[in-house]
Amino acid sequence: MSEYAPSIEKLIESFERLPSIGHKTAARLAFHVLDWNEEETNAFISSIVTAKKNLKYCSKCFNITDNDPCPICSNPRRDQSTICVVEDVRDVAAMERTHEYKGVYHVLHGSISPMNGVGPDDIKIKELLSRLMEGNVKEVILATNPRVEGEATAMYISKLIKPMGINATRIAHGIPVGGDLEYTDEITLTKALEGRREI
Ligand SMILES: [Zn+2]
Repeated sequence: MSEYAPSIEKLIESFERLPSIGHKTAARLAFHVLDWNEEETNAFISSIVTAKKNLKYCSKCFNITDNDPCPICSNPRRDQSTICVVEDVRDVAAMERTHEYKGVYHVLHGSISPMNGVGPDDIKIKELLSRLMEGNVKEVILATNPRVEGEATAMYISKLIKPMGINATRIAHGIPVGGDLEYTDEITLTKALEGRREI
């Protein structure tokens, strides 16, 4: 026997599908949503539907964007000769929060992980290489996460791009090993960027 009406149970189940939401929190959110008026409810639903409909990947850097190319790639004040390579779109946001980085990005959408069956062809490495073939890039900053997979991915990419005469640098440590760029504070991230070294 369920504690609540089936419609409420269904709503709670929907919230439980979100990451780090347990049953109790899901129930709290469900009852909160039920208190909304029609306007609030529609605004919430339409923000999800609009985001799903409008968002796409930038065809240059594979960041998530409403417009292709994304505002960073199409900004003439950004230095197109420096590409910062990150694993995830949330890492772009983390780097942008530092307000220190003036180059452009390339989002890999993952890292090489043989244990999980993720090979170089499963992430956006080919796409990075074809950007580099265009010939205007001087430096590639490898800002993958300081984990085994992130390090392996940085090494793999640096080996591919060195013969092209492009500088490959790795962000300095200071970011805790096993950590995430996404959760690194701005000062640590700025220092890691400033202290980057050739690999
Ligand atoms: Zn872009």
